[in-house]
Amino acid sequence: MGIFLNLCGKNWTPADALNQIQLACRSLFLQTEDGRNILFDVGTGNFFDPKQSDRYGIEGNFELLNDLEKAGVSETDIDTIILSHLHFDHAGGLLSAYGQDPQRLLFPNAKYYVSRSHWSRACRPHFRERVSFIPNLMTLLEHSQRLVLIDDSTHPDLNFGLTFDFSNGHTLGMMLSFRIAIGTISLCFRFNTRSSMDPSACHNGI
Ligand SMILES: [Zn+2]
Repeated sequence: MGIFLNLCGKNWTPADALNQIQLACRSLFLQTEDGRNILFDVGTGNFFDPKQSDRYGIEGNFELLNDLEKAGVSETDIDTIILSHLHFDHAGGLLSAYGQDPQRLLFPNAKYYVSRSHWSRACRPHFRERVSFIPNLMTLLEHSQRLVLIDDSTHPDLNFGLTFDFSNGHTLGMMLSFRIAIGTISLCFRFNTRSSMDPSACHNGI
């Protein structure tokens, strides 16, 4: 996937002739001991039409469902999806592939968790940010009756030691990272981070 090179990126990774750099969109899959199947962000997916896909330089196939299948998990097994924010490169993977009519939400048994303040922004985006949202996605999420808005750093549904950190920098109400306590260890997963060593490694995170 390519995005337009910014000033920070110039010293970080070479751009191609279109001034684009390579970035990966990754999800994290977490399975709890009591059998919950959780996804953190879902990448771009393949909902774009060919023209839009070309515009953003999206390469390769949407491998999330295939990778889950390799792990013995089907789309319908996912019960929880936590979305750092609703820009297309983090939430586009919620949508069925381009050409499948009517467009639908994938993961029919999942609840979708989004911060309340970001949901407000996504429904009424700032004009500079509007292009990053998928208008139809908000309608589908609202009508699914499986959208859960998060107000605090924890949520009663997610009571297995999960806490969130928020930031209003990249977009309003973004969940920048989450922490999970596993025994005496605390694991931190950061969304929207970029590695200085390997640009393909982490746009969405790990
Ligand atoms: Zn974003």
